[in-house]
Amino acid sequence: MRTKIVAGNWKMNKNLEETEALLSELSAKIPDTDAHVIVAPTFVNLEAAKRALEASTIEVAAQNMHFAENGAYTGEISADMLMNIGVDTVIIGHSERRSYFGETDDFLAKKVKTAVDKQMKVIFCFGEELEERKSNNHFSVVESQLKNGLFHLDAKAWKHIVLAYEPVWAIGTGETASPEQAQEMHAFIRNTIAKAYNTSVANAVSILYGGSVKPSNATEIFSKPDVDGGLIGGASLNSDDFVAIVKAI
Ligand code: PEP
Repeated sequence: MRTKIVAGNWKMNKNLEETEALLSELSAKIPDTDAHVIVAPTFVNLEAAKRALEASTIEVAAQNMHFAENGAYTGEISADMLMNIGVDTVIIGHSERRSYFGETDDFLAKKVKTAVDKQMKVIFCFGEELEERKSNNHFSVVESQLKNGLFHLDAKAWKHIVLAYEPVWAIGTGETASPEQAQEMHAFIRNTIAKAYNTSVANAVSILYGGSVKPSNATEIFSKPDVDGGLIGGASLNSDDFVAIVKAI
């Protein structure tokens, strides 16, 4: 049985008071669930989030990290810094990091390696742009993102990996991949991993869908056999919406 996961990526939203308020609402409202619930507030509020969720099963993740151990990387955060405050899950490769901050597959592969070496859990994001889907290149783009970002790992390291397929054209746009499009791509991803490694690695990895998931479409998307949950942006900023999505799993 693969782990079902609903993760909220808060991006650059919520100051300290707002973070504490949203977490207290979530702690009160998140139902008993087999799903693993994760929230990723901004760096400066990670410690407060850890404190606020001390008695909760909700996990705290970082939205990014640097690959270097330490050193002259102004503005950056290392894996050890995260782990030192009890954060051992990190989102790597979000499309906003790729497009606004120029993070390439090679750069992301280094981050993945550092995180896995440190025994962190990585939520690795990838997905095609609209033009790539329109030109029917979405499968090859996804295949190359997986290969370049992750296939340097050995099979054992895959227990640290959660995948998040996020078609860029569906992120924050209100446009969602249809449940059939999500299933088709998730099955392709699993198959690609099976070919590169083996079926036990492929069948064990949780593959989340991300891109305008909301209470009204979550049930249908999550009902697909290769969709193991969601990475949620906008709708994770509102407790009622996020809780409704958790309930849909
Ligand atoms: C995201 O940024 O990872 C995301 C899925 O955003 P949204 O849900 O707002 O489309």
